[in-house]
Amino acid sequence: MSIGDRIREIRATLPDGVRLVAVSKFHPSEAIREAYEAGQRIFGESRVQELTDKQQNLPGDIEWHFIGHLQTNKIKYIVPFVSLIHGVDSYKLLEEVNKQAAKANRTLDCLLQLHIAEEETKFGFSFEECRQMLNQGEWKTLSSVRICGLMGMATFTDDEQQIRKEFHSLGDFYTEIKEAFFKDRPEFRELSIGMSDDYPLAIEAGSTLIRVGSRIFGERT
Ligand SMILES: *Cc1c(COP(=O)(O)O)cnc(C)c1O
Repeated sequence: MSIGDRIREIRATLPDGVRLVAVSKFHPSEAIREAYEAGQRIFGESRVQELTDKQQNLPGDIEWHFIGHLQTNKIKYIVPFVSLIHGVDSYKLLEEVNKQAAKANRTLDCLLQLHIAEEETKFGFSFEECRQMLNQGEWKTLSSVRICGLMGMATFTDDEQQIRKEFHSLGDFYTEIKEAFFKDRPEFRELSIGMSDDYPLAIEAGSTLIRVGSRIFGERT
């Protein structure tokens, strides 16, 4: 199956309100062009250098999402064009994105990354850290960023029950946080969960943005 066929196949299964982020990291620009020609406009990348190189060579109406771990000293390279930063995992990073966005005269949309997996290696706030950060309230003074929702990654496992449990825990947390802090902020509406192997489970748990790489582009080498 071609890249375009895979995109069409995935799209056909998505309910209204769920958008596909095609994760093109490690794949060449030609692969992105194929997806683009099939109508795909949102692409996700996880490395700053790779993202800026690709952005320069590809159509200007692509919506680029940064889905990786962002280092503060590299924010400035993506600020001019990035549409959404999925992995904001500390208040310090949020502040730094705000600072760079203000310099570039932009307001940047961000998602807070929550740690929901068992593995130690995945980045993100714990639920408690996130509550504390939001309760503290200083984030409201950051006028060049908008918190648009939450992002998470489930444990890498075949155990569907566990994945389901982790996604639902984030779905419940999303509802709690929306009610407590973002009731009057309509931009807070995204839940970024689900990858190639688990996106149907993520959709059941309320995902609005699925991040799918290998199912579209094949294995990364
Ligand atoms: C690589 C990556 C994906 C896509 O993973 P696939 O299993 O290839 O679909 C999604 N989200 C993040 C954060 C990633 O780094």
